[in-house]
Amino acid sequence: MFENKEKTEISKLGEFGLIDHLTKKFEIKNEHTTLGIGDDAAIINQNNMHQIISTDLYIENVHFDIMYVPLMHLGYKCITASISDICAMNADASQVLVSIAISSKYPLEALEEIYDGIKAACDKYGVDLVGGDTSSSVSGLMISVTAMGYAEEKNIVKRSGAKEGDLVCVSGDLGGAYMGLQVLEREKQVFIDQKDMQPDLEGKDYIVGRQLRPEARIDIVEMFEELKIVPTSLIDISDGLASEIFHICKHSNVGMKIYEDKLPIDQNTYDTAIEFNMPPTTAAMNGGEDYELLFTLPQSDYDKIKNSLDVTIIGYCTAAHEGKELISKSGNVVPLEAQGWENYKPEED
Ligand code: ADP
Ligand code: MG
Repeated sequence: MFENKEKTEISKLGEFGLIDHLTKKFEIKNEHTTLGIGDDAAIINQNNMHQIISTDLYIENVHFDIMYVPLMHLGYKCITASISDICAMNADASQVLVSIAISSKYPLEALEEIYDGIKAACDKYGVDLVGGDTSSSVSGLMISVTAMGYAEEKNIVKRSGAKEGDLVCVSGDLGGAYMGLQVLEREKQVFIDQKDMQPDLEGKDYIVGRQLRPEARIDIVEMFEELKIVPTSLIDISDGLASEIFHICKHSNVGMKIYEDKLPIDQNTYDTAIEFNMPPTTAAMNGGEDYELLFTLPQSDYDKIKNSLDVTIIGYCTAAHEGKELISKSGNVVPLEAQGWENYKPEED
């Protein structure tokens, strides 16, 4: 479950000793953070910027399974997912609050691993841990992360601004985190059936990494700033592309045409989907947790974005009454369903 084999009972430290122990390595990096951990509340100096706030809850056996999720990765991923929500507003993430409830089956060393992951993510994304809460739990582990960021009003992007004719773009590639999860679930089952078996993750590094250690696309938000692009709408892909397309279409009152042959799918994702008898397009459309960004741009921004290697134009916005459609590789029109696209019949490549 956790790599360090020592097991120190948390009760030995007491609540304040524990908070101190877990947070002492965190240093303040942002000048906006006037006061961090240690008082009744943190103090943030906003400098007239708009504040962006988002919170997420992660529950053992609902959102993660510690049979195959290393605790350090768990800490990292909780921060990533929360920062991703700030990126999805085109804002600069700067602080997080982390609350944790933990049952007695977890020793101090387990919490230390989670906080090592939290620290690695805070360092990577340049955010300050400015507080949280700590409690015991009678049923497993719960982590709540609140992330805060800032943006000038003119740069904030919501789900609601897409216009007919806009280009539909995604960052990175899709479906990898979902296929990684399928591999981890399969190996878990093998392990349960035959305890002496070692999990076989060979050749699956990319997708397992996408599942266990996703990244928030802060680099894409920075790219928007460099290229002087303000997308018309923006959302992060946490529940699968199809679901996020529905959100943008609903809030912006547009339709979309998406081209199957444009969907960015990594070879490792593609091959594993085939191995699991699943159309790779289904993994890309419905698989969650990639934490890539879906956004729309006016066509006049095409020249600015066309050379960005990590952005793919997958379609365009239509009038709302035209609906949400996938144009298959052979040119068939398949309506997208709210929960993905169950009616789709995969075609031969
Ligand atoms: P209070 O009794 O006012 O809730 P706490 O003793 O819970 O205060 O917290 C003391 C300080 O430690 C506060 O700054 C709080 O935000 C911070 N803190 C508590 N738990 C955590 C945690 N798990 N991670 C980071 N900071 C924490
Ligand atoms: Mg408290």
